Amino acid sequence: MAAPGAAEQRWLREAQDFARRALPGPEGQEPAALEAVLRCLRSAGGGALPLGYSFISISDLQHQQRIPCCSHLTWSTNEFKEWAHQGQGALPTQTALPRTYLILVGYITDGRQENKEKLVDGCLYVKDNTGIIPCELLHFELEWLESLVVFPSWSYIPQTDQSAAGYLEILEDPVPVNTPNKVLHSIPVTYPTSAEPLLNSRIPCRRRSNLTVAGELIRLGPLLCVRHKTFFFLFLKCFTSAVCVPVLVQEPSQLAWHHVLQLGHRYTITGLSMSSLKKSGQKTFVTSVPSCLLPYCAEHVREQPLNSTWQGESTQSSSLETAEQLSGSLELGVEEEGPRSTRESKIISYVGIVTKILNVQAGLFLLDNQVCLCLAYLPVLKSARGLRPGACVELIDVHLLQKPLVSFPFIVLGACLSSTVVLKRFSRLSTPYQPPTSSGNLCLQLLFRYNLGMPLYLWLVSLLETFEERFSCFFGRRRLLSCTHQNPGAAEKFLVPLLQAMVPDREKARDIYNEILAKVHHCPLQKYLTLDPPCQAPSLSAVCHVAQQKSWEGFSPSQLLSPLEAQHMGTQDLNRRLVWSYCTLSAGSFQPRLILLGVLRVSSRSSSLQLQDKSSTLRCVISQKDGSPFANTALIGSLLQVENYQIVVERFLQTDFPSWEHLENLEHVREKKTSVYVQFYFEDVQVLHAAEGQLQKGPRSENSSSLRKKKDDNVTPELEAPEAKVLKLEDPKSDTHRDENCQGGQSSTGTTSCVSHLFLVTQKEGLMLRNYQLPREDGEGQELQHSFQATVLWLGRPRLWSHPREIGNLPELEDTSCDGEEGVTQQEALLLFMGKSLRWFPFLHQDGLYRFIVPCCSDLEVFDKLCFPPVPATLLTRPSCPLCLPVQDTWHLQHETWISRLPERQLAARMVLTGMDQRIFSIPEVLSSSFTGSLVSFSGEIVERTLCASPKNEKPSVTVHLPRQKGNLLASDHSVKLSVSIAPGSPVVMDIYISATYLQHLWGLLPGAKILFQNLERKISRFHNVYCTYIACSCVSIISLPASHLLFPSSPAGEASSPSLVFLSNLRPHLQNLPRARILCHLSCVLTVYLQWVCSLCSSIFKEGRCTRHNPPCPSHTGVRQASARVLVEDGTGEAVVLCRNEHVAAVLGLSLPEWEALQNCVQSRGSVSIQHGEATGTGCLEEPEDIVACYLRSLCRSPLICRPILLDFSLDRKPSKILQPAPAQLRNFRCGEVEFVSQVGPRLSLLCLNVEEVEQDALCYLNSERIRRTSSCC
Ligand SMILES: [Zn+2]
Ligand SMILES: [Zn+2]
Repeated sequence: MAAPGAAEQRWLREAQDFARRALPGPEGQEPAALEAVLRCLRSAGGGALPLGYSFISISDLQHQQRIPCCSHLTWSTNEFKEWAHQGQGALPTQTALPRTYLILVGYITDGRQENKEKLVDGCLYVKDNTGIIPCELLHFELEWLESLVVFPSWSYIPQTDQSAAGYLEILEDPVPVNTPNKVLHSIPVTYPTSAEPLLNSRIPCRRRSNLTVAGELIRLGPLLCVRHKTFFFLFLKCFTSAVCVPVLVQEPSQLAWHHVLQLGHRYTITGLSMSSLKKSGQKTFVTSVPSCLLPYCAEHVREQPLNSTWQGESTQSSSLETAEQLSGSLELGVEEEGPRSTRESKIISYVGIVTKILNVQAGLFLLDNQVCLCLAYLPVLKSARGLRPGACVELIDVHLLQKPLVSFPFIVLGACLSSTVVLKRFSRLSTPYQPPTSSGNLCLQLLFRYNLGMPLYLWLVSLLETFEERFSCFFGRRRLLSCTHQNPGAAEKFLVPLLQAMVPDREKARDIYNEILAKVHHCPLQKYLTLDPPCQAPSLSAVCHVAQQKSWEGFSPSQLLSPLEAQHMGTQDLNRRLVWSYCTLSAGSFQPRLILLGVLRVSSRSSSLQLQDKSSTLRCVISQKDGSPFANTALIGSLLQVENYQIVVERFLQTDFPSWEHLENLEHVREKKTSVYVQFYFEDVQVLHAAEGQLQKGPRSENSSSLRKKKDDNVTPELEAPEAKVLKLEDPKSDTHRDENCQGGQSSTGTTSCVSHLFLVTQKEGLMLRNYQLPREDGEGQELQHSFQATVLWLGRPRLWSHPREIGNLPELEDTSCDGEEGVTQQEALLLFMGKSLRWFPFLHQDGLYRFIVPCCSDLEVFDKLCFPPVPATLLTRPSCPLCLPVQDTWHLQHETWISRLPERQLAARMVLTGMDQRIFSIPEVLSSSFTGSLVSFSGEIVERTLCASPKNEKPSVTVHLPRQKGNLLASDHSVKLSVSIAPGSPVVMDIYISATYLQHLWGLLPGAKILFQNLERKISRFHNVYCTYIACSCVSIISLPASHLLFPSSPAGEASSPSLVFLSNLRPHLQNLPRARILCHLSCVLTVYLQWVCSLCSSIFKEGRCTRHNPPCPSHTGVRQASARVLVEDGTGEAVVLCRNEHVAAVLGLSLPEWEALQNCVQSRGSVSIQHGEATGTGCLEEPEDIVACYLRSLCRSPLICRPILLDFSLDRKPSKILQPAPAQLRNFRCGEVEFVSQVGPRLSLLCLNVEEVEQDALCYLNSERIRRTSSCC
């Protein structure tokens, strides 16, 4: 043999260093150990030392190896390539484990000597002097335990999370360095056939510690761990029959057996005793400390007769402690059978390759890209070591569930306690290891707490996955999913009520023992019912998407118009009516029911409240059921759940339909846009996770201590600074500088002290562009800025607090009650909100008491210093100018209470403040002609919302110079008319016009909503009608949302129930404000009829298919027919001229639809036809005597059949010349059927026809008699 070369010398020196460092042994014995290792390596390498490889210690492996790797001591490159290539079969996109050239030597241990405290959990480890690391083996021999071995082929899989150690996968059997001597004795054994009757006998258990049973391993239960005690069951079958016996293995030193035992192999177990389970009485063999597991070897055993050995022993007193604890701790119920037919799961065996880890926490793995393996029903989901993509597993006796959950795409194989899951081959791929969290696994906890079946469990997992994905970026995964009993996390608060609704009663506990031991199998996976999820909580972007989709589903423009109306509309009118529409969706509009979750934030860019998750934001409008505005600033940053809501999708259409006949042709739809928001009541909100570290002291009262406690607990440094949170949840995009929390120079003392100042809002004005010229900002002051302003009354002086949470309960007002009138210093100020402080817009409301809190500040004059006198140019109009105070970005607004809710002891303050609140009028007051004010506030319910062209004189001056603003989906030349009434069905209606420019900040202005309008401008039209316009200083707040029943059948015409029956003589007192009424009247005469075709574009006469306008020529090819008629009616109390339009003309003339069609078609070639009749001479319409259509019409009007009783719905035609005609009352004769009577009548009214109904003879008699009765009682 040649002397070792230099390379070998060097290698040997390194080997010695390694041995000294890593290989344990008595003093000075490392060389002996090394010699043995080298001998072993030489024999493995065919005599040569593996000089290309180097020794690695456990500690170096753990600290230096960051990516998965493998090492194969004796393999050639080709062998390795072949091996790696085969491993990629199932997952070609994954790379194989990279090869390293490392020699791993160490002791295999079950961990029992490492640390006495440590739980022996059945895991195996490799250790050397430097460290210990868990390992997984496919095959294990007991004699390797605690002996020094060389690992010829292994992989190291680091944990993805760098802070914890990874583990070893032992690919080939380790080679013991010193060959152990096996000594086999002949031992007496009992076979299951003769042992089994012992378990079945009714006689009490006798104790005996040295029964030996031999048999074939037919089932191997999973390692179970309950209250720090680990154990497993195995089942030995007789070689010649199907009889088998259970054996409980619970001694810590024997848990390693679990790695040795292989199904189908024959074993002998010594030292068994018999035990029965307290509850079920089931009996099982139990190992004792001296028990041994031996391979069965026919030559070394002899059968032992039982009778003699099992007599006269004492009754075993201790029943299985572990068993009791297990079934006690799992308190499970039997899966409930639903009313529908349940399916039976098949029990199968399966071998497959893990292709994906679906959810390691939930124990879900994908096999062969098509089957889901669920390990969740094994009470201890092991560390999942080895279950990496690419690994091959064998499943024995698992339940096959075809489609447990409608939305779950895979077939599911569920392993229960009688299933066996065996790792057949390790993955050869460089796929990572994700360990499941050992404690606080919410999925598994809920699974066991509610004894969920597979369908519910899978649904739970999917809900939880989405929940975590959406919100862990806000609160951190741990805090969301924490599941301690006293303080459930947000996820638990969300899920538990859902589960409780699904599993209403869980009576029986799941009997783990029965599941493992019973002859007839029983477990939660046996029966299942395909679950249709009862609800969903998808991401906000998905919610918006679905809502938008639904809003266009089955949408057609013709829905927005009644056909009768539409056919007489010109192009402009028609298309304008299509511009803006909406639809609303509730939780039940979605399938399944949709639960809304989101973090409440407020955007300073849009000055609106929003719900937010990782995917998107959804604007929201929050109202309170008591009608007070929503002002709860403490809710910002909280995670909310809302199940009762209205999602509103506003639809914006740009169309160019030439006429109603083209409405079905969607080519004329040029642009479709939507805007989605949600509205709900504060009372319907459930807070899943309250915002922490806000500047709040909580909603009133005593919980400041609990808040403090929470803070001490677990607040991360990031959230420690309260404002950081506020800013973080603020607008992320505009949030450029974070460090402006503390204003320079003002934070003299500690960072927690703050200054607060209480104020009452006496007036709040709307959000708009204003040209504030702030004294300090040079240049920028010239630009128009989005802003709003509020007039407030300071209450008391600013106060200093050592910490925001110390802020007391309105001490400013307490002072007042002590020293009388002097206490409250009242000083008015105009607060200017711009930039980030715009976020307070949704929270600040008139008559609210608020507090500004200036964080990190101890300067009591901070407010005074920032005040400046108003710039004359902008604010000269105000009679008494208060000081202006620009609200700083860092200030926090806190709502305290409403002035009307101040408690008794603060009554003094209340007295002082009374009278400060602005007068809210009623709609009739504002409508009254004696009303004198110009700025008015009132509340009412929206009856109708229509888009109309902005009257030129009402365009707001500011917007004239501005292009269409971003985000405004309505062109600025539009305005909206809101018809508002005091109560639903009330005839008193006020019209409010709002220009499109303002609308972009106004949400929730829907029919049915009750709104408080503030500071509207009251105007009187040239027809003497009172109406209001929304101006710069106006604002609105929603008092109540539309009732949901109003929302669903959103009939385009918005027809209400039939209006009330009145007399013409009754009308005079309400002339101004009667939107719709009904009279029973006699049609006495038709005065004029005018039929025409007009050009849909220019309204010129349209004749023979062409527009008659020539200068300039009109390109239109579409004509629209229009008709009007004036008729005279009387009802015995008065007379009225009624203007009828379009289809109503046909109705008063008594024409059927085909007759009306034919008549109009005759007009088509003529352009227009008109007649005058009766008293109507000189009304301006020219008669054409020779025209046949005119002749027909005239004869029709002269016919006595025309004069008949009708039911007429009308509104007042508000021509002043007619209404205000000063004519004295006169006596007139009236005839009504057989009855003739005399009545005093006023001047003729002018009415607009809304509907005409023929009256049946019977109805007429009844109505007439009724009328006579009432008339006579009146007179
Ligand atoms: Zn089962
Ligand atoms: Zn025209």
